[in-house]
Amino acid sequence: MATLEIRDLHVSVDVEGGTKEILKGVNLTVRSGETHAIMGPNGSGKSTLAYSIAGHPKYTVTSGTVTLDGEDVLAMAIDERARAGLFLAMQYPVEVPGVTVSNFLRTAKTAIDGEAPKLRTWVKDVKGAMEHLRMDPAFAERNVNEGFSGGEKKRHEILQMELLQPQIAVLDETDSGLDVDALRIVSEGVNRAKESTDVGVLLITHYTRILQYIKPDFVHVFVDGRVAEEGGPELADRLEAEGYDRYVTAAKA
Ligand code: ADP
Ligand code: MG
Ligand code: MG
Repeated sequence: MATLEIRDLHVSVDVEGGTKEILKGVNLTVRSGETHAIMGPNGSGKSTLAYSIAGHPKYTVTSGTVTLDGEDVLAMAIDERARAGLFLAMQYPVEVPGVTVSNFLRTAKTAIDGEAPKLRTWVKDVKGAMEHLRMDPAFAERNVNEGFSGGEKKRHEILQMELLQPQIAVLDETDSGLDVDALRIVSEGVNRAKESTDVGVLLITHYTRILQYIKPDFVHVFVDGRVAEEGGPELADRLEAEGYDRYVTAAKA
């Protein structure tokens, strides 16, 4: 069992002539086995939340806490966060010149587990996960993110999640740029991880479409840097029908 707890999180970025507060007091708890959808209009701070949990240097936490089973995540170095059981796809470099997907995955797995995976099972696991995600075996020999299409990046993200077996995974816009078939395949990967490892998932998305495939237990509506409303899966259905207009209008008023 793992619990990611975010309490009254305030985050700023440096902008020309000063700083700008983007997260204005976020409260959220994600436990093993739960799927939480964070939904909200563009610019509401969803990615900032993901980057802040990942420890992106551009985002300064000015107050509040993020803990994993009571341990202070914000005090951890980025690789420590991964070892503690957090999966944050965006924590990894955009491109890793000269490092193949295969080597990258094995290095990450070794760093997280503290020992190299047994070669025979590892090769089988990688092959199996890639087959499930309908990835060409040649993909494993490509350099990480070098010339990856949007869809390949997303599949690579889910491939990592399936193989690294985190306790809590933060997935930001996993649905963006995917056609319906790819969306289904990627969603199935998330669902496989949920079934086989009881991972807790924080699924950040602007659109309700992916929630037809990955069923959230909880839905949080993010507006202007904080959670404006929370509910069960029915809230996603309402957003699908009504959009974000009434939240945005209320935030501006
Ligand atoms: P979302 O993911 O919900 O679309 P973001 O977290 O990307 O929202 O952005 C929230 C707000 O913070 C936006 O107004 C965006 O322009 C601003 N912002 C995010 N990152 C930066 C940054 N590095 N520098 C300046 N402004 C930023
Ligand atoms: Mg579950
Ligand atoms: Mg975003």
